Amino acid sequence: MQLLRRLLPLTLLYASPQLLPAHARALEGSPPKVQISLFNDAEVSPEILSRGQYRVSVVLAQAGVQVEWVACRPRDRTNFSPASPDCSSFTWPEHLAVRIVRRGISIKEEVFGQSFQDKSGCGIHASIYYDNLATSKSHAELSDADMLGFAIAHEIGHLLLGPHSHSAHGVMQGNWQRAALIAASQGNLFFSKHEANLIRMRLVKGCDLLRMARR
Ligand SMILES: [Zn+2]
Repeated sequence: MQLLRRLLPLTLLYASPQLLPAHARALEGSPPKVQISLFNDAEVSPEILSRGQYRVSVVLAQAGVQVEWVACRPRDRTNFSPASPDCSSFTWPEHLAVRIVRRGISIKEEVFGQSFQDKSGCGIHASIYYDNLATSKSHAELSDADMLGFAIAHEIGHLLLGPHSHSAHGVMQGNWQRAALIAASQGNLFFSKHEANLIRMRLVKGCDLLRMARR
């Protein structure tokens, strides 16, 4: 993805099972859940990180998905103790990993994040390039925390929606123009209804459903 720009405020969101669309509840009787293991290699401040996580949770809650966060220790090449299973073993689609690094090798400065998928369109890892985000002047109206949250939500969207998942509207826009930034700043930038449906179904039924949806 090439995520540019920002947005912001928070309103709502805790989506209780009673508030979810009926078809979302019908899949399993409770909201689908995604576990996200978060690696803060960039040493983003706890305040910015927690606010960014909140934004991610809000965006996914609007899609009818509950987020469970796992805080993982950042990469430390001097520490040889094994990581916990929650921070070393991931399973698509219900357990994904996001690593926040300062910069990426050969990554253009306007790119805030990247997801990694296999040939089937399934992937478990995403990276966020925090220095690109924090030094960018393209999202002046949005705090770094909210931009971070939207960037993570966007990459999680790629991991759950598969390839070619950019959209002309909503949080899956590849390049965020002013309208998107304004919507984000108003706390009104989410996954589309179709994207939300697909994300929930993939969380319940896996990759086969995506292939079926594209036939
Ligand atoms: Zn993208």
